[in-house]
Amino acid sequence: MNPSQVSGEEDPFEAMHARFDLAAAKLGLDPNGGIYKILRMPDRELTVSIPVQLDDGSLELFTGYRVQHSLARGPAKGGIRFAPNVTLNEVRALAAWMTWKCAIVNVPFGGGKGGVVCDPSRLSVAELERITRRYAAMIHDFIGPDRDIPAPDSGTSQREMGWIVDTYSMHERKWVPAVVTGKPVELGGSLGRVDATGRGVMLCAQRAMPTVGIDPRSATAAVQGSGNVGMVSALYLSRIGLKVIAMSDIRGGVYNERGLDIEALREHVARTRSVQGFPGGDQISNAQLLELPVDVLVPAATENVITHANASRIRAKLIVEGANGPVTAPADKILEEKGVFVVPDILANAGGVTVSYFEWLQNRTGNAWPQSQVEERMETMMVKAYDDVVAMAQRYEVSNRIAAYMLGIDRVAAATRMRGLYA
Ligand code: NAD
Repeated sequence: MNPSQVSGEEDPFEAMHARFDLAAAKLGLDPNGGIYKILRMPDRELTVSIPVQLDDGSLELFTGYRVQHSLARGPAKGGIRFAPNVTLNEVRALAAWMTWKCAIVNVPFGGGKGGVVCDPSRLSVAELERITRRYAAMIHDFIGPDRDIPAPDSGTSQREMGWIVDTYSMHERKWVPAVVTGKPVELGGSLGRVDATGRGVMLCAQRAMPTVGIDPRSATAAVQGSGNVGMVSALYLSRIGLKVIAMSDIRGGVYNERGLDIEALREHVARTRSVQGFPGGDQISNAQLLELPVDVLVPAATENVITHANASRIRAKLIVEGANGPVTAPADKILEEKGVFVVPDILANAGGVTVSYFEWLQNRTGNAWPQSQVEERMETMMVKAYDDVVAMAQRYEVSNRIAAYMLGIDRVAAATRMRGLYA
């Protein structure tokens, strides 16, 4: 398969365009106008071939991408994904989503994203380090604290960010912590960053529940994915009183109608790297998990899990999208008709980039904020973004997703207009 050509409902870049077009029309952006054309496409794209020596002595060539969708509001910001099925169109979509997300929470960044086509589960730590460092060296001129600031995404973590900050700093001949966020705290990472995305998911759920008539003390939830976002979301939802009855990973899920012990499940996953075999629940498939009769559903694994094929069977009243792009454009319509309240990805998972902004600020000012300061400021910004999106949805009588796009696009369009055209 040509990696940049996944067609139809499941092409994330087409999905982004479908929503962009609806939001742009509501905003009255002329489809033949300059702003529309500029905002629809990435500013810059880089594809690199990464030669790496494997542990057995053979040489493998990995493909890597870095896409900067918009630089209008500031340097590009966005994670790096390591996965075997990464495509250029996926990275383009993720970069565009970062642009809207940063504008929605009003941090001074544009949007970017990176990806390397590799399967981290089949590579040794030494091989992963060589891939990460060579990729970092190859995108060196593209990134930097004032250009483009990567962070972790699926398949990468603090560890990879540590390797990138070291590689970048070695090339620069000086310590440059602000080149990446999501670093270990020992290397200038921010307190509260690891929990930020999942905590933001909880804050959105908490704000949305009264609107939908859900009482958290008697509510149930299901969470797809038990990585950084899924596990932290589940933990925080359980802390505000929800009964999390199902969780999963790529291999399947666990279910307990009385509620899973999330702390125990977290320890199990930390030990075994999977929810499989957890003694406190029964097996369930990912497809079954999504269709459970829960109050709150948090898809926090990957794209395209709710499509035209299963949307009509979703029974949750509230969906809070921890993952990027979990619902396809045709599924949006079905969920809307069913009256499901959706907190869209570009709002729901923006807690991560908000605290990444704080990390960048701390690095640039030589500061280290206490966790309470990080959490308070993040909560203020997430609640404001949530309220802005919901107000937009009410004012224009559109879904929360289209409202979120409208808010993001409007802010980026304003910056683009004010900067004008340099020719
Ligand atoms: P991760 O790699 O830590 O975890 C991903 C989880 O999803 C794992 O449990 C994995 O087994 C599971 N998974 C993967 N493919 C699956 C599939 N097809 N079906 C079911 N489960 C599957 O990744 P993460 O950082 O938690 O990111 C998850 C999602 O959240 C991604 O869409 C990512 O872009 C998005 N996101 C992450 C952050 C962040 O701060 N980490 C911020 C914003 C958005």
